[in-house]
Amino acid sequence: MPERPSSPSASAAKYIFVTGGVTSSLGKGIISASLAKLLQARGFRVTIQKFDPYINIDPGTLNPYEHGECYVTDDGAETDLDLGHYERFLNAPTSQANNVTTGRIYDTVIRREREGAFLGKTVQVVPHITDEIKRRMLLLGQNGEFDIVITEIGGTTGDIESLPFVEAVRQLRWELPPNDSLVIHLTLLPYLAAAGELKTKPTQHSVRDLREAGLQPDILVCRSEHPIPADMRRKIALFCNVKMNSVIESLDADSIYSVPLLMLKEELDARVISKLRLQGGHTPDLEEWKEFLGRLKNPTEDVTIALVGKYVELPDAYKSIIEAFIHAGAFNECKVKVRTIQSEFLTPENAAQQLEGVDGVLVAPGFGERGFEGKIEAVRHVRENGIPFFGICLGMQVAVVEYARHVLGLPQASSTEMDPLTPDPVIALMADQKDVTQKGGTMRLGAYTCELKRGSRAAKAYGRNTISERHRHRFEFNNEYLERFEAAGLSASGINPDTGLVEIVELPREVHPWFVGGQFHPELKSTVENPHPLFVRFVKAAIQYKKGL
Ligand code: GLN
Repeated sequence: MPERPSSPSASAAKYIFVTGGVTSSLGKGIISASLAKLLQARGFRVTIQKFDPYINIDPGTLNPYEHGECYVTDDGAETDLDLGHYERFLNAPTSQANNVTTGRIYDTVIRREREGAFLGKTVQVVPHITDEIKRRMLLLGQNGEFDIVITEIGGTTGDIESLPFVEAVRQLRWELPPNDSLVIHLTLLPYLAAAGELKTKPTQHSVRDLREAGLQPDILVCRSEHPIPADMRRKIALFCNVKMNSVIESLDADSIYSVPLLMLKEELDARVISKLRLQGGHTPDLEEWKEFLGRLKNPTEDVTIALVGKYVELPDAYKSIIEAFIHAGAFNECKVKVRTIQSEFLTPENAAQQLEGVDGVLVAPGFGERGFEGKIEAVRHVRENGIPFFGICLGMQVAVVEYARHVLGLPQASSTEMDPLTPDPVIALMADQKDVTQKGGTMRLGAYTCELKRGSRAAKAYGRNTISERHRHRFEFNNEYLERFEAAGLSASGINPDTGLVEIVELPREVHPWFVGGQFHPELKSTVENPHPLFVRFVKAAIQYKKGL
């Protein structure tokens, strides 16, 4: 028998669905995360999931230019970058179940069809695809772990691709007990400068589209560059069939981290609580959040960090790194200005000039040959000039290759990813990757334990000797060269206790103010309430460097 959605009444959780209209990029992820934060601050246990209407099984195979960064969870899922916002806001991990694509839905249904689960039946979008969507929409709410599950539906209403998701939500709303679900629709009120006013028509149209598909939103969140006058709220309420106090204004914010407070002021959480008849919460405790905002908005220092990568034209490609700098900056009461540098154009001749005036350099993760040599030049420059350096994943591998070439005296050293025939493969394909031919979901993914060398910079930064960090790579430090590196001063200060893989390299304090590379992605674990220790220390090193300390 095909797995049917379990009886909705068995589920104690309440479900909030967030859809978007008018245009993409309105910030559904931030609104969802902000609402979740407010509900969490009132004592509810909340999680957020994202349903994406594309056919890739996950975004792992997408070029960052297509879809921004690929966010990796502890359990090794390659997911949409909005999950990063969810974790940063809620300070709680997400998992594979929190991101579902059309591709994954179809994959599940088609596999079941091959197993004979639907024998004799025609397999159709309705009910088979919508049943599978519903099953996954309810999943996180069923084991008693959460009071509220917020589901963000990717895409924009009216898109052909989103229709099965909207239909699944329609059915669920009908199946779930009254007051156990609600729909929030995010729209845009464009401002026409020539007319000098905000326009409601696109919002009316997008709500009409939604209603045509059978969904009546309960709450409208209206993105706007200007405050919405009361009579306009009334008009929107009347024509979109919502109460006036359910028309929520969402003005452009100076920081995404201000949005929860803006939504609190607009009483979005209060509306949700009342509509869902949620019992037992308290007034929102946002003390830590406000403290963070206070530090963020009143920096006493500033530093400039170069972010050297090959996807710099699209800032979303490095979303978690940028956010980790915001968290670590606020912690240090320091404004971190991130200057992006296209590694493809860095050369031995121009590196010094391109990196002039920076107080630290972060060499970014990445794949493939483009920009690799430029990253080598960035590392050489910072290593030789005592500028704080932080390498992440490929950035760490670059640091190893650079050290091999210029300190170990192996001029042709490389990673076999860039030069399969290098005589000195100081970075090489991991043993368990050698027979892998499939591309999707086959890297070393997710959280692994790492033991830190006592007294190392890494151990000092973390304040402990065992850590867990998230990975996404196929290549690794080649342990055949370990002794030579250590003898030449580059220390392997973090090692995976099970496999012996080198996870962190660093130069000692005596020779460099801050030179650390990690094979993992620390940026994925940095949150507002837990800024990542390596970012915190790196920013601190940049402040000291700037002051000449
Ligand atoms: N391309 C490198 C690898 O696969 C680094 C990956 C990364 O930076 N995420 O090992």
